[in-house]
Amino acid sequence: MKFRLQLASTFCTFPTTTWVASFSDSNRSDLAWAANTKNAVTMATVFRISVESAEKRIEPWEPNVTALLDPAMLKWKDLVVAGTPVPTPWRKAEFEAYEKDIQAQRRQIRKENRSEAEMNALFEKEKKHEDELLGTDKYSDRVGAFEGANYEAHGFYRPQENCIMFSRYDKFCAVCRRAIERIVGMYATQ
Ligand SMILES: [Zn+2]
Repeated sequence: MKFRLQLASTFCTFPTTTWVASFSDSNRSDLAWAANTKNAVTMATVFRISVESAEKRIEPWEPNVTALLDPAMLKWKDLVVAGTPVPTPWRKAEFEAYEKDIQAQRRQIRKENRSEAEMNALFEKEKKHEDELLGTDKYSDRVGAFEGANYEAHGFYRPQENCIMFSRYDKFCAVCRRAIERIVGMYATQ
């Protein structure tokens, strides 16, 4: 039971029952075992990919992420400049490879019990690289639908290439800004 709940909150956007229904008892014992090992993430990821097909994916309620089930109904489409492709291309593979490398370096620093100064220097280096990579693509300054959002590398899209909600960037994207302004406005007029 504990493992099933963990899956639902960490990896799965579906009701827990969707998962459980598709596993036999023997699968479940494999999963329970995996939960206690380093294989847990891999297992969960594999299962999520097999269960979460595009047609079953649901549109998140958050104003700054979409499953892009119907590009014509994109929730921030009024901010998309004509001629911007949706989904919007960006240097995703390059970004992901870089992040993977940084994470490995981070783990190594922790493993060797090195100083916080060293860790902070790595954060700074990462931010600088991200700002450059996510700010110099063809559509970096446009609103579109960039794959990689909602803690998922695939299947969910964010409105701008860079945003404080995506990286260590220090600005909100246009869609996040508008969502914040709407909420502030709602309270300010009460
Ligand atoms: Zn944003």
